[in-house]
Amino acid sequence: MAGRLQDKVAIVTGAGSVGAGWGNGKATAVLFAREGARVLAVDLNAEAAEETRAIIEDEGGTCTTFRADVSEAAEVEAMVQGCLDAFGRVDILHNNVGIGALGGAVQTTEEDWDRLHKVNLKSIFLCCKAVLPEMERQGGGAIVNISSVGGIRWIGIPYIAYASSKGAILQVTQSIALEYAAKGIRCNAVLPGLMDTPMIYASIADHYGDREEVAKRRNAASPTGKMGDAWDVAYAALYLASDEAKYVNGTHIIVDGGLSARAV
Ligand code: NAP
Repeated sequence: MAGRLQDKVAIVTGAGSVGAGWGNGKATAVLFAREGARVLAVDLNAEAAEETRAIIEDEGGTCTTFRADVSEAAEVEAMVQGCLDAFGRVDILHNNVGIGALGGAVQTTEEDWDRLHKVNLKSIFLCCKAVLPEMERQGGGAIVNISSVGGIRWIGIPYIAYASSKGAILQVTQSIALEYAAKGIRCNAVLPGLMDTPMIYASIADHYGDREEVAKRRNAASPTGKMGDAWDVAYAALYLASDEAKYVNGTHIIVDGGLSARAV
């Protein structure tokens, strides 16, 4: 079914991928474009965003890239202006950027604690702060925030700063959803579980030893026997971003194959 985001303009942050293959942001940017959205693909890594743009344009879609660190207010403001310059409006804000750092309460450094909260949480606050006045002026919009099952559950490894930042995203989501509900702006979150994306090999391979071990452990930990992938996250985001979810607000979709429902 094509055209689920026809005539919409979407900002997707972290629309590149940290490595070869499909990250959540890259898959979401491509899927949004396949469904008719014009996409501003934002990334710290301009080359990674260009790769996403090339895929979208090869498929006949519309995409412009913007290099920005979404944890810096001035760069976020420039990003929103860049979207208005390119497409004249912004209907969807997809806050995908997130990073991990291994460590529990004792091992985690203050620097890592601050860095993760800045990149994972403050970036969402800054992007919403910059986009909301524009959505309000337009009379509506949809925001999708990428949290994590790690924000509501212990995921088997010490990951305290990540867990804290991802948990807080849910409260930010609810706060915005209720404040803006009467203005036609919806805000929801997606909680991915164990997904097979390039980021996991970059961020947690140290804990498990090597790439094969990461995949083996995460597949075994999934109730389905297999990790999910970036497209599973992208399809949940597509629904929340689309008008099909017009009465869905202040909530979240868990995309984890049942992981968080399991007691043992
Ligand atoms: P990814 O696509 O591989 O990485 C996203 C992109 O974000 C990278 O190109 C990265 O650039 C960029 N980025 C990092 N910091 C940025 C910043 N400050 N400003 C702008 N761009 C920035 O990652 P992913 O695996 O799909 O993860 C995406 C989201 O899903 C994250 O929020 C993550 O926490 C969440 N998630 C993932 C999983 C999973 O299992 N993979 C599970 C739960 C939640 P650089 O390469 O330059 O860093």
